[in-house]
Amino acid sequence: LSELPRPLEELAAALARLPGVGRRSAQRIAFHLARASKSEADHLARQITGLREALRICEICGHLSEKERCAICSDARRDSSTICVVEQAENLFAIERTGAFRGTYHVLGGAISPLRSIGPDDLRVDELLARVETGDVREVVLATNPTVEGEATALFLARLLRARGIAVTRPATGLPVGGDLEYVDGVTLGRAFEARRDVLDEDAGE
Ligand SMILES: [Zn+2]
Repeated sequence: LSELPRPLEELAAALARLPGVGRRSAQRIAFHLARASKSEADHLARQITGLREALRICEICGHLSEKERCAICSDARRDSSTICVVEQAENLFAIERTGAFRGTYHVLGGAISPLRSIGPDDLRVDELLARVETGDVREVVLATNPTVEGEATALFLARLLRARGIAVTRPATGLPVGGDLEYVDGVTLGRAFEARRDVLDEDAGE
């Protein structure tokens, strides 16, 4: 039984922690990089370190951006009276690709999850409420993922927003339960957006 040389083993272990990379793929990438030219490996390393320096969080919506304000928040043609709340920036890209939404966004940075000790304070909830209270916001679309955590987060936000007189909608059903918006095909997601509806009507009487 021969073990991998330690540098190779450590790189493979680090790669295996990335989303979508299993142990076998991680080893294959590590072996590839061990054989790759110095310039190829250096280029990849520079891109990884440079990414964190080149990107920041948009001061308004929390989207990834090269500037203080992202391209969407800086675009005067976007309807700032409608805010679509998503868990992560990749969900925002999935919605943008459908072309069905012309408002602005708010990236929470995750979903409420007691199992993973993620509460509202760990998400950009206060920033969302501040936008709602100071801006001309009329509707908030809760496009959290159709998972248990995403639904719980939507319910939590709907109550806070309703109490502030904001119309709260959710993309129509038809999204696969337990899925991630990122992987929903564009046609389905686009339709779900156009047919978005008031949600949580059962809470309206509270
Ligand atoms: Zn922004």
